[in-house]
Amino acid sequence: MKVLVLNCGSSSVKYRLYDDDEQLAEGLLEKIGTGEAQLNHTVAGRKKEVSVHEILEHRTGIELILKTLVDADKGVLKSIDDIEAVGHRVVHGAEAFSQSTLITPEVVAKIEECIDIAPLHNPPNLAGIYAISELLPKVPQVAVFDTAFHQTMPERAYMYAIPYVFYTQYHIRKYGFHGISHQYVSHEAASLLGKPLEDLRIITCHLGNGSSVTAVDHGRSVDSSMGFTPLEGLPMGTRSGDIDPAVPLYIMGKEELNLQQINALLNKHSGVLGISGISNDFRTIEEEASKGDRRAALALEVFCYRLKKYIGSYIAAMNGADAVVFTGGVGENSDVVRDMATRDMEFLGLELDREKNRTKKRGEAAEISTASSRIRILVVPTNEELLIARDTRRIVTSR
Ligand code: ADP
Repeated sequence: MKVLVLNCGSSSVKYRLYDDDEQLAEGLLEKIGTGEAQLNHTVAGRKKEVSVHEILEHRTGIELILKTLVDADKGVLKSIDDIEAVGHRVVHGAEAFSQSTLITPEVVAKIEECIDIAPLHNPPNLAGIYAISELLPKVPQVAVFDTAFHQTMPERAYMYAIPYVFYTQYHIRKYGFHGISHQYVSHEAASLLGKPLEDLRIITCHLGNGSSVTAVDHGRSVDSSMGFTPLEGLPMGTRSGDIDPAVPLYIMGKEELNLQQINALLNKHSGVLGISGISNDFRTIEEEASKGDRRAALALEVFCYRLKKYIGSYIAAMNGADAVVFTGGVGENSDVVRDMATRDMEFLGLELDREKNRTKKRGEAAEISTASSRIRILVVPTNEELLIARDTRRIVTSR
């Protein structure tokens, strides 16, 4: 079955076209809203195509992507009617969605209701859904949520210790994000370990520009480091992660910042960028740290120390763990981060094989713990689009 997967951001659309599990094409349209939107379109075995267009909103952007997919030279489809289903990544499903769902007008209305708590993410996701409804009106669409996997978290993990009325009135609670990735890599890890997921306690570390850690207890998310928004948890490229809630209030007073400014400070100017003053890119941070830059080294240490504490706390939450899994741009590629985050945890039965960690091949799944490590350590490349394509196929065929 041919499934188009769309991941619509505020000014970008990422897409992949699958035929069952085989990827036919992928691409990224960036700078939507400008006269110089750039489309990078790649088909396996062919040269990457780059083109620039005036694209002022998502609908025309998606129209361009569909045209490209059927283009005589650049395309991979004979006709647009070959697309049998479209799967959308939707960031926030709040408590309304605990699994992927066929899109109906009622589902769209519920996703619209979630805009209130995900004002940056859900509107572009919805723009993609509206565009496909218009351009491919007969094609079934499926929403795959980043929050859905975490809906199994128990109350004690998701409640904040603030007056209960804010939960009932404003739905303030921990939701957790990156669920598609945590779900995908926990399944992959179980198959690498040759055991059913239902028999395993796994800690998945998705480390990229945004980072989160999840405790996956017998296949169910029981805790995750991101919260009401993706700002909670680990420090990230530009986000502060966990912080004493009094700190932003104090800074607002001292610097006379308004809500928007403090929001930008915590989301865009903090994290490893904030500490190092150099970059949000972990490659640059590592390089500068290795050359002796003190603040870059500190940023790396803070990140890895917090990650280590999350791993430790999730071992406590699950009364042990069978595996720790690293994924995402940083988790898959940085042996330095994997090493620093798992150091001195032998007492918990977690032992990294430094040589295996250092020589792990890029893009491949691998085990990097010692033979005697009670908790196995794995690196598993994530593939959120593939999970979206599979869920879309399953839901559309079982209608
Ligand atoms: P996103 O969260 O946007 O999906 P990715 O998962 O692609 O991001 O991760 C991007 C991050 O991965 C960047 O900070 C980049 O520096 C980092 N990264 C990529 N390759 C390496 C590497 N070899 N070493 C360290 N960090 C890396």
